[in-house]
Amino acid sequence: MTRDELRRSLEFYQDLGIRTLYRRETRVAPAPVARPAKEEPPPTMIELPPLTPLDDTMEAIRADIGDCKRCRLCEGRNKIVFGSGNERAPLVFVGEGPGADEDASGLPFVGRAGQLLTQMIEGTAAKEGIGIKRPDVYICNVVKCRPPENRTPQPDEMEVCGQFLFRQLQAIKPKAICALGSTAAKAVLGTKDGVTKLRGNWWKWRDIPVMVTYHPSYLLRPYNQNAKREAWEDLKKVLHFVYD
Ligand code: SF4
Repeated sequence: MTRDELRRSLEFYQDLGIRTLYRRETRVAPAPVARPAKEEPPPTMIELPPLTPLDDTMEAIRADIGDCKRCRLCEGRNKIVFGSGNERAPLVFVGEGPGADEDASGLPFVGRAGQLLTQMIEGTAAKEGIGIKRPDVYICNVVKCRPPENRTPQPDEMEVCGQFLFRQLQAIKPKAICALGSTAAKAVLGTKDGVTKLRGNWWKWRDIPVMVTYHPSYLLRPYNQNAKREAWEDLKKVLHFVYD
């Protein structure tokens, strides 16, 4: 890789918010004759993930993920949860990561939180006279493998797996993104602010408007009635923006 190519690659990954890259030490086979005492040490090669082609596709992203072992979350997973729904959807929901049901099925948001998300999407759409069902939108997560004990993904895991999320968003080019919960907001907006501060307003990922709202698993807790009402308001805003 030339210096220029390396610079362009690094800039590209910086744009994506990726600050950690894998390095692989490349050992040079020993020369048959003794080296001069002042010879430079063998070069260090930087191995970059492939650049996102302009015409990136979901098939290409799936193929690149393959049997991914790029972060420690591969160790406990059963299935990689890539995403589901309409791959040309004008609306993409981004959650945090797969739970037990998702890890077993390979599909996002199929457990209790997923059922609530389906109800929220379909119930709000029906009430507002918008003719969509869950399969009309696209749903995915920041990390594609289940974190142990459902813990929050760690920053390095989000950074490594986030490249696939960004490629998915780039390939779909939705009219709007809805980030569910703080982890999704952090990954998409690169912010440290929490949902309470961010929700209800429009933000941007590149040129795409982003609405942040509560994660459905938070809404399942009985004492979060106010948050439930707010999440419905946020969703109403998103659906009207995208489908009116
Ligand atoms: S979480 Fe993402 S980066 Fe980590 S192993 Fe799974 S697919 Fe690969």
